[in-house]
Amino acid sequence: MAARIIDGKAIAARVRGEVAGQTQAFADRHGRVPGLATVLVGGDPASAVYVAAKQRACREVGIEPFDRRLTAESSFEDVADELERLNQDPAVHGILLQLPLPGHLDAAALTGMIAAEKDVDGLTAVNAGLLALGSPGLRPCTPSGVMVLLADAGAQLEGAEAVVVGRSNLFGKPMAQLLLIANATVTMCHSRTRELADVCARADILIAAIGRPRMLGAAHVKQGAIVIDVGMNRLTPEEAGNKSGLVGDVDQEAVAEIASAITPVPGGVGPMTIAMLLSNTLQAARYQAELDGMFREMDREAS
Ligand code: NAP
Repeated sequence: MAARIIDGKAIAARVRGEVAGQTQAFADRHGRVPGLATVLVGGDPASAVYVAAKQRACREVGIEPFDRRLTAESSFEDVADELERLNQDPAVHGILLQLPLPGHLDAAALTGMIAAEKDVDGLTAVNAGLLALGSPGLRPCTPSGVMVLLADAGAQLEGAEAVVVGRSNLFGKPMAQLLLIANATVTMCHSRTRELADVCARADILIAAIGRPRMLGAAHVKQGAIVIDVGMNRLTPEEAGNKSGLVGDVDQEAVAEIASAITPVPGGVGPMTIAMLLSNTLQAARYQAELDGMFREMDREAS
């Protein structure tokens, strides 16, 4: 039987709708809306498209977008100063530094300057540490989106064998930790993993985040597995055999008869990332409102 297609577009639309409703409730309660600042350094066309999509998505759900742009020649201090201004701005609840940065800038150091409570990408050491401890914090958007897709697919994570191929800080590591928190038995694979196909073929849940077009095929997939294809590889439309030219890390055709469910590319994991960014911004705004309330209460008690 052909695998069920997990419709990321529809699930992301549902998440955005929920965020819109909850954003309205936040505004009614606090008299202000959540704000998300995007910081774009330089004129990389793909990054500009992503930033525009994030700004548009904010407006659609009632989050106020702040669009900060710096030239490609900006120094480390220029970007750091902008991030610090946003850290201090009470109208901004979430900050997203669009990556990649121009080569002369240290992306890890600059990302680390974002205040942890505004780190809606979940990439600072504080939020990565909280995730590693299994404590509440802001989670990276794409792995959080995958957890929503798995829930929608009815995946039973407790005790399941989950294999994550790819160990990036952006996706693979936080993905593995979220699965571990959900009580899956998690194996992480990377470029030095031996017998990759055999390891993958043990998985009830197989997650591919490699960045290599259609690398995982029939030999990597167990009968009935749920397959999540995170890869976004750009080919020409002719090479890809589709209009967008986008293909994943999984050979979807080869796997379709073996897996029980699979995310398509495009239209699977991709749409979830922005939806979870909106959700994280709302979560950050709620947390900051709670903190403000606590500080006001302490001031009242002290005076
Ligand atoms: P990355 O930082 O380049 O990491 C790639 C990982 O794949 C590394 O851990 C690497 O292992 C591993 N790898 C490379 N070749 C391998 C091989 N032959 N066998 C086994 N493992 C191999 O990539 P990333 O940022 O995690 O992204 C991965 C893919 O997901 C990309 O296509 C990216 O565009 C996509 N992505 C999509 C979204 C979305 O919103 N849909 C979000 C994030 C990423 P080593 O560590 O040993 O080098």
